[in-house]
Amino acid sequence: MTERLSIEGVQTALSCPRKYEFAHVDGLEPDADGHDAATHVDLLGRSICAALWRGESDTDGVLEVATDRLASLWADHDERYHSLAQREHERTVLEATLRAYAEEFPSHAAGYQRLAADVDSDLLGPDLRLSRSVSVENADESADETSVHVDATVDYVFREGPSLVAVKFVPTLSSLGLLRYRSEWSGDVETQFRDHFDSDSDTFEPGLVGALFETSVVLAGLRDTRDRLGLEGRCRYVQLPLADRSQTAVNWIRGTAEMGLEACDLTDRYVDEISYAMSHEHRNETVDSQLAGVVGRLIRGEYAPGDRWTQIADAVCPRCDYAVCCPEYVADEVRFDG
Ligand code: SF4
Repeated sequence: MTERLSIEGVQTALSCPRKYEFAHVDGLEPDADGHDAATHVDLLGRSICAALWRGESDTDGVLEVATDRLASLWADHDERYHSLAQREHERTVLEATLRAYAEEFPSHAAGYQRLAADVDSDLLGPDLRLSRSVSVENADESADETSVHVDATVDYVFREGPSLVAVKFVPTLSSLGLLRYRSEWSGDVETQFRDHFDSDSDTFEPGLVGALFETSVVLAGLRDTRDRLGLEGRCRYVQLPLADRSQTAVNWIRGTAEMGLEACDLTDRYVDEISYAMSHEHRNETVDSQLAGVVGRLIRGEYAPGDRWTQIADAVCPRCDYAVCCPEYVADEVRFDG
């Protein structure tokens, strides 16, 4: 039997498995607030992918096509703003983001077109799916193991030197936590990852753990794609934030905006250099085995917060859209009131 899970679902379960049940099993939609950074990233991602699809390979070409595409998407985009001026300001910031992308990452478009010329396959999103297969034990231990495909999506793959690089547009890098500031697995990253799963530790880092799980899935899927297409080279995974307003400089008098973009290559944060040196495979068994453990619990329907309840109650419940219908949260509130 084969099942499928999205990496977003797995990441939700890392912050709270009950939340995963509400969102991904019961399909309960959280309230949308109408101002969603993810929506803006989607508009920008579609605009950039349109330029790559059109064959643009330099700064001017990417910027011209992406800006045109953004204009038509923006015309149909409905979002609640206080005023026309605020809506115009948002569009100015989005256009500044496209300009920053085209100027700071021209190698991406050129590398995508080089790759596209080599393969008879579109490695272009948005929502290009890459998957990793995970074997998990069933609740009934006598039954065969279940094979689960964990799916991640990226926006495009490009050639950089000998490497194949998968790029995903994200709102910000803030959810990466410590990963943003460390360049390798050994040391703080490894310690935080292991501590997150240690019931004797208070460490609770679903963002860091989820990003390492996502890196594992993307790299495995990219390696499969590389082999299927007869390509060679190391595989890498890069996140590129398109809605990080801390990087925005606005001139309110002139009505202009400047944007800075900072990409984060997650590959070396995930690769365990010791096992890599022995096997020359880009993998990390510590991360991969914990991924299989989390996926197994979800497949078996184990959604109770369990020994992570204290951390979840402190860090996740206060901002959770499902609190009103959540048995753990309601029971805790009643106990507190009593
Ligand atoms: S209220 Fe708390 S325990 Fe309930 S689903 Fe949300 S985060 Fe999880």
